[in-house]
Amino acid sequence: MHRFSDVPDRPTRQCPACFRTLVVDEANFHKDSLCADGFTRKCADCRNEAARVAYRLEAPERARRIRERRAERRTYFESTGRYEAA
Ligand SMILES: [Zn+2]
Repeated sequence: MHRFSDVPDRPTRQCPACFRTLVVDEANFHKDSLCADGFTRKCADCRNEAARVAYRLEAPERARRIRERRAERRTYFESTGRYEAA
């Protein structure tokens, strides 16, 4: 049980989104080579949550794009006469 004395100097960071202070490592933060210390500012949990929210917000837009793409393809195949064969 030397949890703390084993790693006395591991850097920690407070996540600006959830305000938890976490050890900066792969488990708590996503890697990002563009960041000064190689990890994102927000913790992994907040990054995952943000991705989930963004995904949900974009869902109607995504569905619309798929519908449009499908209509375009149908028009294209009908114009080439290959729609019936496909
Ligand atoms: Zn966080």
